[in-house]
Amino acid sequence: MNIDFNEIPADNELWGQFAQDFLCNLGFSIEPQLFRVSDDGYDFCVLEQVPGKFNFVPFKWLVSCRHKSPTRLAVKESEEADVLERILRNKVDGFIGFYSTSSVLALSLHLESLKAKGNIKDYKIMDAKFIESYLITPGFDLITSHFFPNFSLSRQAIHIYQDKYLPIRCEFCQKDLLETLYTNNNQGVVVRLRLRKNDPDTMDTISKVYFACKGDCDEQLQTKYCRHYSQSTASWASISDLVIPAAFLERAAVLLNQIGRDGISYEPEALETEIYLLRALAQRTLRPAVPGELLRTKRMLINEE
Ligand SMILES: [Zn+2]
Repeated sequence: MNIDFNEIPADNELWGQFAQDFLCNLGFSIEPQLFRVSDDGYDFCVLEQVPGKFNFVPFKWLVSCRHKSPTRLAVKESEEADVLERILRNKVDGFIGFYSTSSVLALSLHLESLKAKGNIKDYKIMDAKFIESYLITPGFDLITSHFFPNFSLSRQAIHIYQDKYLPIRCEFCQKDLLETLYTNNNQGVVVRLRLRKNDPDTMDTISKVYFACKGDCDEQLQTKYCRHYSQSTASWASISDLVIPAAFLERAAVLLNQIGRDGISYEPEALETEIYLLRALAQRTLRPAVPGELLRTKRMLINEE
């Protein structure tokens, strides 16, 4: 596991506040009041708008927050023994367990029996694994940097600057090399094919730029493109290097120099890929925009159109 949930202290209601921010980011409407239900447990309620045929139907969940990671113990059924009473008191439709460890099977069986009896319509356990799988995805970086500062320092978070996230996909297997940059020994590369001309008066051309996983995927793509561009020489840059601020800036400077001063020409598609690459890398390399800047950026983009 990459995220250490012990970064959140267990002796106050911070785990509950984290749960509220997390669920808010997932799109739930949060009722701000946190109710202390035990030494290490807090409850609050959230509303989910479930799409119906003509309208949205509100579905109310009771969220039980238990921060057990300092003890590393799973949440036991006995710790949620009064769950039915809390469900009835809060008049909710469903139950969410928001736990920093896991939960024992007996708890799930108990919740399943409440569902079978009609006490709740549904339940969901959000355990450490589930929560972490969201925290490392784009769009959660503000929450991650606030509640897990040490984790955030160890990697550059992804900030979305345009309307949507821009992935860097391996052209062969389609894996997103930017999102998975710090996981699974990801080794994504950017490959440039440069067509060198024999005639000294003729400019070299960048004929193709592509993204690939280092190794098999890259070899497959090289075989494919070398058939088209047999006179080309390839150069590689690792994506983990290109997100380093100085290397990112240098990539942009080299691109401008090549076009403006060295007279290297680009195939239109290769140039588009270079521009896309800079925009996508910026999501990991630049600082996040503050609220006033977001609005200003939108206006600038509209003016450029
Ligand atoms: Zn691949």
